[in-house]
Amino acid sequence: MSAPVYLDYAATTPVDTRVAECLAAYLTRDGVFGNPGSEHRFGWAAAEAVERARQQVAATIGADPREIVWTSGATEANNLALQGVALADSNRGRHIITAKTEHKAVLDVCRQLSRQGVRITYLDPQPDGLITPEQLTEALEHDTCLVSIMHVNNELGVVQDIAALSAVTRAHGVLLHVDAAQSIGRVPVDVNALGVDLLSLCAHKAYGPKGIGALYVRRRPRVRLQPLIHGGGQERGLRAGTLPTQQIVAMAETCRLAEAERLGETVRIAALRQRLLAGLAVLPEVQLHGHAEQRVPHILNVSFAGIDAEALLLGLDDIALSSGAACSSADREPSHVLKAIGVDPIQLAASVRISLGRFTTVEDIDYTVTRMVAEVERLRDLSPLWTDYAVHA
Ligand SMILES: *Cc1c(COP(=O)(O)O)cnc(C)c1O
Repeated sequence: MSAPVYLDYAATTPVDTRVAECLAAYLTRDGVFGNPGSEHRFGWAAAEAVERARQQVAATIGADPREIVWTSGATEANNLALQGVALADSNRGRHIITAKTEHKAVLDVCRQLSRQGVRITYLDPQPDGLITPEQLTEALEHDTCLVSIMHVNNELGVVQDIAALSAVTRAHGVLLHVDAAQSIGRVPVDVNALGVDLLSLCAHKAYGPKGIGALYVRRRPRVRLQPLIHGGGQERGLRAGTLPTQQIVAMAETCRLAEAERLGETVRIAALRQRLLAGLAVLPEVQLHGHAEQRVPHILNVSFAGIDAEALLLGLDDIALSSGAACSSADREPSHVLKAIGVDPIQLAASVRISLGRFTTVEDIDYTVTRMVAEVERLRDLSPLWTDYAVHA
């Protein structure tokens, strides 16, 4: 049997071998293994590597290195942003606005904060997955302290117009946090052009290792945060814990490569996406979710009416795909994102996320099209739901 095809790059990516080499240089006795907090030559060498990495990550998003706080990933960065603002100053307000299509790493933090008395408004996006500035303006209250809206949606691939949303938050003196875990290497990220106050990043969605990320925290005007983790005072007291030099250096190299290869990769992946869609077009009743243009080409969300996505995934056991987000598919709940944009139950049960990446080939796409078309046709032939659907369509 041939090797399985990986089309789940939105869940995680393999580490680029160039990044892996970088990781290895900061682990062993003959590498830079010192504690960046130590006051000797081993520590200084590590601290210097960490600061170089901070400059690289800051440069990738147009920030000042002093605005970067290392975290264990985007989940922790989201926690630090939302809890950090909400708990920093109770006089600043007790209301947060977010969207129903956010990642669980924002929604679950909001749910926790609501137990602590913070009021949360969950915006319903438009059917194309986008939040309009008008919706946001209407949701603002006198004590709104923070708005949290993601950049690239991990299930739909739609790209929010963050600059338009930040024009609203700025005009009202409200902070804006953006979960940009899917953005690096896929779309340009500039914190000043976007007008954000806080921005979450992680390495493993962009060919870096799992377990490292960063939170951008604006200095002018200054964003005040309550730290979540206390200890040795690292990261200006915002995030204690010995800095993982190898992870940090690897994240910087991840960002550098992602930015250098972003344009070429996007063109190549857009062509693969077209090829995939053209191949699937032989099937009737295939619905694509999310805005058609304001999106990255890397993530497709499609429904094949009349079948069960779980059955399709079982049938395609040599192709790695996702029904719903990876973290929530264990509970077999239909995607909260597709629900939030009003996808009907038949389509919801039949939706699959296909995500392409750096190592996807034309052969991968052609194989997937052949297998998928055959499997959808087979399942539809067996499905009373499809017979009904086809009669009424
Ligand atoms: C993957 C992802 C996260 C979680 O990031 P981790 O680094 O795995 O904690 C958060 N938000 C979005 C949009 C993601 O895609």
